[in-house]
Amino acid sequence: MRIAVIGTGYVGLVQGAAFADVNHNVICVDKIKAKVDHLNDFCEGKRNDLPILEPDLPRLVKENYDKKRLRFTTDINEAVREARVIFIAVGTPSNEDGSANLTHVRNVASDIAKAMNYESENPIYKIIVNKSTVPPGTYKIVHDILTKETRNEFDVVSNPEFLAEGRAVKDCLRPSRVVVGAPNAKAASIMEELYAPFKDREVSIMFMSNIDAEMVKYASNTYLAGQVSLTNAMANLSRELGADWRKVLEGVKKDIRVGRFVYAGLGFGGSCFPKDVREIIHTMSQHRPGTVDLKYLKNIIELNESQKGIFIPRIEKYFGSLEGKKIAVWGTSFKPETDDVRDSAGVHMIKELLLKGASVSAYEPSGSEQAMFMLSLDENVKPHLSRLTFAPDMYEALKEADGVVITVEWNDFRNPDFMQVKKLLKKPVIFDGKDILNPKHMEELGFDYFSVGRPDVLGYSNKA
Ligand code: NAD
Repeated sequence: MRIAVIGTGYVGLVQGAAFADVNHNVICVDKIKAKVDHLNDFCEGKRNDLPILEPDLPRLVKENYDKKRLRFTTDINEAVREARVIFIAVGTPSNEDGSANLTHVRNVASDIAKAMNYESENPIYKIIVNKSTVPPGTYKIVHDILTKETRNEFDVVSNPEFLAEGRAVKDCLRPSRVVVGAPNAKAASIMEELYAPFKDREVSIMFMSNIDAEMVKYASNTYLAGQVSLTNAMANLSRELGADWRKVLEGVKKDIRVGRFVYAGLGFGGSCFPKDVREIIHTMSQHRPGTVDLKYLKNIIELNESQKGIFIPRIEKYFGSLEGKKIAVWGTSFKPETDDVRDSAGVHMIKELLLKGASVSAYEPSGSEQAMFMLSLDENVKPHLSRLTFAPDMYEALKEADGVVITVEWNDFRNPDFMQVKKLLKKPVIFDGKDILNPKHMEELGFDYFSVGRPDVLGYSNKA
């Protein structure tokens, strides 16, 4: 089947390549020419990196490009003309008030409509699929824009995406589920044909109404975000009580009704949970203002914001003051195996440390570019950026540093060369924001060690 995917970010690029991999003919479109050139240069062997970091994606893209099933262009007209199914996979960032910004979705809907007005004796009935995460009811907005601007026959389908960055290729080749919100049997049957190769992989494909499908996405992310915040509240309390959250968890997790988001940390980040919960709060405030339901959702975000800041007072207390201290920060991506730093604990940590007068020496396995860009957007932080450096490797970052903070669980950070760490740091102190190290081991090695959900360890100070 001929498919167009508009927007080649984390969702559009991976999903486009996955559709090509099951033998569909895919054209990916992006309005940023530099990005499309980058993709084409990669495919032509002129460079060896993609615009985003995602395990196994380079292979998937290259193989399907070579088989002529995957192309990249800035020309939406060409892509739409040929396609039966057109995916909208553009960003929907938060507005100031928490609502989702639909500017990109609206613009693309309008571009698609115009591109559908080409002269043809046999115009193709087209399906416009919303893959972007959009507030319940957006399918009507897209439908209205198209109706106004094109005579071509079409339907709007809602098909939210559930991939997780860092495992996006796996998630797209073998999705946990495919949710299709279709307005009628005709559109549903084409979507069924499109996803048929995935059905052979025993993926369950669910058909429902547009509004149901749009709501599934927000409900899923709100459940997961809620679980992270509840986990962190329990982990914080465990530490205060002298209990070890990892041990507590062993007991809790035996209950099969408890899910995967049960590891304590510095709060959720990334491009989805924060903005999607903010959006559902906005929708809730319009439909159920003043209710406990609304308060509950707001608390998920409030808990998360406060969780991002829990280490700063503890670090400050340890050093007396952060003024003039040099702190190493390991990790700026919001989770391992991605270079996405949107709403990440690492970027938040660097900001706070700089604002408190510390200098920061950071290291991020996926590179420093995205974090530097994100930090340079913050007017409050900008004047302090001269106190931030990025090191080329994780040990280099520790040189002359007073201590190190781990903000994300990249494998490199799980089992570092502790002797090196001890030698390089001025004082052997680790603040572990992902609870990935073993407190007993840290004590034996003579470190002061602070985590989220386990009691403090003073393996250095008590001996000094
Ligand atoms: P992204 O910012 O990485 O990519 C969006 C792309 O769309 C960009 O390359 C941008 O240049 C392009 N674009 C914007 N306007 C355009 C236009 N008018 N014409 C052509 N291209 C245009 O975003 P993303 O992370 O891929 O997310 C896309 C959507 O999918 C969002 O709604 C997001 O919430 C949702 N989603 C994201 C994830 C994730 O893990 N990233 C997972 C599930 C769902």
